[in-house]
Amino acid sequence: MTTAIVVGAGPNGLAAAVALTKAGVQVTVLEAADEIGGGTRTSEAIIPGLLHDHCSAIHPMAVGSQFLSGLGLDRYGLSWRLPEIDCVHPLDGGSAGVLYRSVEATAAGLGVDGRRWRALFGRTSANFDALAEDIMGPLLRMPHHPLTLARFGAPTVLPASTLARWFRTPETQGLFGGVAAHAFRPLHYPMTSAIGLGILTAGHRHGWPVAAGGSQSITNALATLLTDLGGKIETGTRIETVSQLPDADVTMFDLSPEAVAGILGDRLPSRVSRAYTRFRQGPGAFKVDFAVEGGVPWINPSAKAAGTVHVVGNYAELAATERDIHAGRMPERPFVLLGQQYLADPQRSVGNVHPVWTYAHVPNGFSGDATEAIIAQIERFAPGFHDRIVGMTVRTTTQMATYNPNYVGGDIMTGSKDILQLTFGPRITLSPYRIGIPGMYICSAATPPGPGAHGMCGANAAEVALSELI
Ligand SMILES: Cc1cc2nc3c(=O)[nH]c(=O)nc-3n(C[C@H](O)[C@H](O)[C@H](O)COP(=O)(O)OP(=O)(O)OC[C@H]3O[C@@H](n4cnc5c(N)ncnc54)[C@H](O)[C@@H]3O)c2cc1C
Repeated sequence: MTTAIVVGAGPNGLAAAVALTKAGVQVTVLEAADEIGGGTRTSEAIIPGLLHDHCSAIHPMAVGSQFLSGLGLDRYGLSWRLPEIDCVHPLDGGSAGVLYRSVEATAAGLGVDGRRWRALFGRTSANFDALAEDIMGPLLRMPHHPLTLARFGAPTVLPASTLARWFRTPETQGLFGGVAAHAFRPLHYPMTSAIGLGILTAGHRHGWPVAAGGSQSITNALATLLTDLGGKIETGTRIETVSQLPDADVTMFDLSPEAVAGILGDRLPSRVSRAYTRFRQGPGAFKVDFAVEGGVPWINPSAKAAGTVHVVGNYAELAATERDIHAGRMPERPFVLLGQQYLADPQRSVGNVHPVWTYAHVPNGFSGDATEAIIAQIERFAPGFHDRIVGMTVRTTTQMATYNPNYVGGDIMTGSKDILQLTFGPRITLSPYRIGIPGMYICSAATPPGPGAHGMCGANAAEVALSELI
């Protein structure tokens, strides 16, 4: 029987394992941590019963993932919950940019910018399912839907700052900029619109849902399906050298390129080894989870109903923070992403105490404490927040990298999404999942289509592996 080893049980490792098992391969997943899930885990951390997502929280790309949605994971307990409002970007003075799933509702709230928002997202989001076939894999290949891809792709080459200037109000500029800043790149750099446009287009098609019961439900559903199909998972097994790898026809690494280079050493062709050891990291994330009595007392009423709130201020402030962290400077007022998953999924709360998920963009390897800066930013748009905190847990960039070695220096994107790494993946090649050794592949979020708990990197890598099995 054909055999496969998958190293790493993040969503991409599990997706690769499921795809291989479905094709009749005998798969064993080896996971370093004591629990599976990588960046897709949830637990009680502050108060019994209060559920905090450790990493991934909001899933506009996962809910529309061709791979995940084809698996029937609802049979394994995965269901999606949508907040009333997807995302809010509050400004000083109480106004905000407000994002709804509907393009029309969003445009209607954006005043003079409504027409431009509709022009940018109306047609592409209506065609998102076709578009996804082209953008959820390597970008450099023959497109299935060239016209749809061209319409979506043209503005993606622009710096986010150029598109932000195209909008006229500070609310729309902030709203667009905040989503573009998910790329962790200085917003005046070319192609920094790409990730934001992808998230916004997907979100206008599918919404910004959370997984009922926490993101762990995505992991649990994939793992249960895998074991039902006959796959095996071993936890507490960290692979550090090639000698630890069992013999197998296929070996799939859900790891950072540096880790793959470290494990395989001289066995890796020198051109691949050079590329993997020169792989560039992005900035880091500093995470704080809060238990909050009565929720966050936002000034802006829409923020009270939003699954995600982007906390930073106006576009100029946002652009300055992203420039700073890229240059290794910690801004006094960082960009804070805040999740209120409990609004869509009330089972995560305990009575009137709610889990509030936040992380700040910080320099890679930032060794300071960003907790007070995060609280101050939230307090700025929600006075009284501080007094409602009944508990919190912190994960620094160093702890982030210990918790999951894929997040080098706290880089939760598994590598900088600069033009080359966004376009090609970990090295310049048309086959980003191959690592230059027959039967061995990389399938982590360092490969196309990149980060997100959508499993597409793993599914794509498995497809290549299966096509090369003799
Ligand atoms: C704070 C934070 C917020 C995020 N927010 C979102 C969000 O809202 N929405 C979204 O879609 N995505 C989000 N993400 C990103 C998302 O979690 C990742 O893109 C996704 O988890 C990547 O999946 P992966 O399978 O490539 O790798 P990972 O999830 O990183 O999994 C890799 C696995 O490999 C294991 N491993 C590492 N080294 C070894 C080794 N040597 N031997 C054995 N096992 C090893 C790790 O323990 C881990 O389990 C967020 C991430 C973080 C950290």
